[in-house]
Amino acid sequence: MTELNLARIEALVRDLLIEIGEDPDRTGLVETPKRVAKALAETTSSTGVSEFTQGKMFPTEMTESSQMVSVNNIPFYSMCEHHMLPFFGKVHVGYLPQDGKIIGLSKIPRLVDFVSRRLNVQEKITHEVADILADITGAKGVAVVVDARHMCVEMRGVAKSQSMTRTTYFLGAFNEDNQLRNEFLQSLPKVGQ
Ligand code: ZN
Repeated sequence: MTELNLARIEALVRDLLIEIGEDPDRTGLVETPKRVAKALAETTSSTGVSEFTQGKMFPTEMTESSQMVSVNNIPFYSMCEHHMLPFFGKVHVGYLPQDGKIIGLSKIPRLVDFVSRRLNVQEKITHEVADILADITGAKGVAVVVDARHMCVEMRGVAKSQSMTRTTYFLGAFNEDNQLRNEFLQSLPKVGQ
């Protein structure tokens, strides 16, 4: 994790407040630079971390079944790298275990958090979750779908719709096997629900 210079970030936020015409000394804003620096440290804590080291703590378990494993509606929160505004939504993951090798289902949300906590684009989150999950499990196939709302679209301009953007990424068996891919896609909640 990149060691942040919080004092420097606070000074920059103070300057930013002045530039947008605010008075950084008014009551509501006095603590804001400190809060923004702290919030940024949390929401970008994966910046510069290339390896998902927690992956090592994910012992794989064995199952007799060779059925697809899927986890839907994993919440994620990230910030777009174009405007530094939030985008957030749900991640849906499916994989086809290799030789019955699976990981605890509760571990996948931690992977989603890891990937989300840096400046990002939705496509990149979709690909990274799939690639890392494939690495950890050695799965025969991985499918990832991300549904998200983008504040840089909704808060700006006239387009105020609460539209969902869906991105999809398939690896291995999900590319080759139509039936498997359809099984996964049909397990997803309808966009917007
Ligand atoms: Zn944006």
